[in-house]
Amino acid sequence: MAVTIPFKKELAFEYGTSETLSPHIRRVIARNPSAFTFHGTGTYIIGHGEVAVVDPGPLDGAHVGALMAALKGEMVTHILITHTHHDHSPAAEPLKQLTGARTYGFGPHGGGVSEFKLEEGGDTDFMPDVKLEDGDVILGNGWTVDVIHTPGHLSNHVCFGLREEKTLFTGDHVMGWSTTVVSPPDGNMSDYMQSLEKLLQFDYDVYWPTHGPAITETKPFVEALIAHRQERMDQIRGCLKSGPMYIPDMVRRMYKDVPEHLHGAAGRSVYAHILHMINTGEVKSDGPATSSALYSLG
Ligand SMILES: [Zn+2]
Repeated sequence: MAVTIPFKKELAFEYGTSETLSPHIRRVIARNPSAFTFHGTGTYIIGHGEVAVVDPGPLDGAHVGALMAALKGEMVTHILITHTHHDHSPAAEPLKQLTGARTYGFGPHGGGVSEFKLEEGGDTDFMPDVKLEDGDVILGNGWTVDVIHTPGHLSNHVCFGLREEKTLFTGDHVMGWSTTVVSPPDGNMSDYMQSLEKLLQFDYDVYWPTHGPAITETKPFVEALIAHRQERMDQIRGCLKSGPMYIPDMVRRMYKDVPEHLHGAAGRSVYAHILHMINTGEVKSDGPATSSALYSLG
């Protein structure tokens, strides 16, 4: 039976306007809608008076201006970065210039050149002032943030848990509107699956992703994401049972209801799953495990 992910897509908002979401949380959405960003980047503000800004977003003067207007009379003490994609981290630099706040992130953009073009761009310029580690606690004035390292979408992806509200800023790791892109080599399906399992150990009532609306059924949602990926791996097993196969042939079989112009992205996803199955010893390749190798059950 096919797994259904309980996606949530409805979101009423206005670009460039600060919206109060909860006692501690406000959000300003940047006008950068796309296939990766949905309506755009949601930049979160934590606290009042002395605040943290989570993912300032793309290099967009209008968005930085909207943030500064929303924070008039307040002080930015922390700039928190979930990961180094172009729609998340580049505005950290101008915001830092304007506010003097330090930037916090797991590290610079990860290494490795993707074979694929269809990618969210990496922000290779970003270097955090403070390098975060899993389990770090960031203390602000009136708020407390727990750092959870969640590699998978990118190796430097972290989620930020706001203790005062039992809510988690999930970046692109878990989103309500879509599954996340896991694109090798810096995107890693084995890490991603582990990072999903990791979230199940924590009791957060609400997830706030960078893109799209909040997720309130947090654990069932994560469980559905895990089941969805397992279903993909079942489909790959199904393909390989009949003999060795190339990825484009698997895509034609697995995604026969999906328009052909999306098969490139589908192939990238199948490849990410196959690399995970190589890690677990289930699948092997006829040479280096590239996207054009011949794969078979191990
Ligand atoms: Zn991203």
